[in-house]
Amino acid sequence: MRRLAKRAFLKLAGLAIADRIAPRWVRAAQAAPSDRKVIIVTFGGGCRYQETFAPEGLRNVPRLVALKDSGMFFKNCVNDGVLSHYNSTSSIVTGNWQRVDDFGFGWAASPTIFEQYRKARRVAATDAWAICTNKSFASIGETRQRGFGEGKGANVVLPKQLLLEAVDEVIKRDLDQGVANRENVLSQLEGILNAGYEGIGWTIFRGGRQLDRQIKQTLKRGLVEYIYGPEAPSSGDELTFFVAREVMREFAPRLMLVNFWDMDVAHWGAYSLYLQAVTKTDRLCGMLWDEVRENRAYRDKTTLLIVPELGRDGDQNTANGFLNHRSGDPSCRNVWMLALGAGLERGETDRPIAHVDLGATALAMLGVHPLEMQGEAIREVLV
Ligand SMILES: [Zn+2]
Repeated sequence: MRRLAKRAFLKLAGLAIADRIAPRWVRAAQAAPSDRKVIIVTFGGGCRYQETFAPEGLRNVPRLVALKDSGMFFKNCVNDGVLSHYNSTSSIVTGNWQRVDDFGFGWAASPTIFEQYRKARRVAATDAWAICTNKSFASIGETRQRGFGEGKGANVVLPKQLLLEAVDEVIKRDLDQGVANRENVLSQLEGILNAGYEGIGWTIFRGGRQLDRQIKQTLKRGLVEYIYGPEAPSSGDELTFFVAREVMREFAPRLMLVNFWDMDVAHWGAYSLYLQAVTKTDRLCGMLWDEVRENRAYRDKTTLLIVPELGRDGDQNTANGFLNHRSGDPSCRNVWMLALGAGLERGETDRPIAHVDLGATALAMLGVHPLEMQGEAIREVLV
C-alpha cells in the first residue's frame, strides 16, 4: 500500500499510531470499526464517455449530472485489464486485474473484498452482498483461495435469473396457464427459492432456518414488487434495483455490489436501445442514492462508488462502433468514476485512478487492511 493510502487507512480506522508498534490492548481499543457503509455500483454493461459525461452525452445522464457537484468526480478511471464484463467487475471487487474464465465458471485468482471484509471483521454473512443483472456473475462473490472461498464471500443474487427460471418452469410444467398468470409464476418462484441454493440464480449462505426464511421472504418481496409494482419495472436492471433495495431495508449490509448491465443490449446493434439503457441506469443510480439518503441505516454514513466497468469501441472502429468492447482503444478503457456520500472531497479531478483502486478503497472505508492488491486506496474519498 502506498504511504498516503496507509495513512488514510490508519486515520479511518481510528489509529493514531502504527498498529504494529501499538500494544494489543491499544489496538483493540482503537480499531473499533467505523460504521461506514460502501456500495459499489457498476454503471454497467459498457458505456462510453460520449454517451455519458462528454458534453454531447450529458443529456443521457441527467440524475448523475445533477448529483455530480455534491460528490467527487474522477474524470480518468482506467480499465487496464481484460475488457470483458466478468473480468472487469471481478477486478473491481478484488483489487487485482483478473484474467479468468469470462462466463462465470472460474473464480477470481485473489480474494474478494467481501471475503476480506468478512474475515477481518468477523461480521455476519448478511453483511456482504452482490446483486447482479449479469447472469454469469454467480461466482463474483468469492474465490477458491486457501483461507477464503466457499461460504465466506458475498451473498450473490441474480434476480433476473431467478425470474427467468420461474417463467421457464411455468412454461415447462403448465402450458395451460402460461406466463400470463402471475400467481402461477410466483408460486413457481417460491418453489425455486425453496428448492436449492446453487446454480439457479442465487448463492445464499445458510445461517440457520430463520435466516433462510427471512432471506427468501426478502427476495420474494422484491420480485413481487417487481411484478406488481406501481413503478412498472420492465428490465433486468430494474429488478436488480428492487432486490438491492429490499436487501438494504432488510439487512442493511455494509458492503454491497450492485451490478447493472442492461446497456450491453448495444451488442444487438440498436443505438436507441443502448441510449435508453444508459438513461435508465442513470435513473436507477439516482433511486439508489435516494434510498441511501432516506434509509436511516445508510444516511450520512454511506459512500456510493459509481463506475462503468468498461466502455465500448470508438466510432472510428467502423467494424464495431458502439456494438462491442474489444478493440482496447481509449473509448473502451477510459471511463469515469463518481463517488457520492460520506467522507469525500467535493469537486472533480484529472488524477488518473483505475478500476482496481475501488477494492482497496472500499476496504479502507470499512477499516480493513487489504491483502496484496494492485489497486491503491483513493485518497480523495478517504477524508
Ligand atoms: Zn458486452
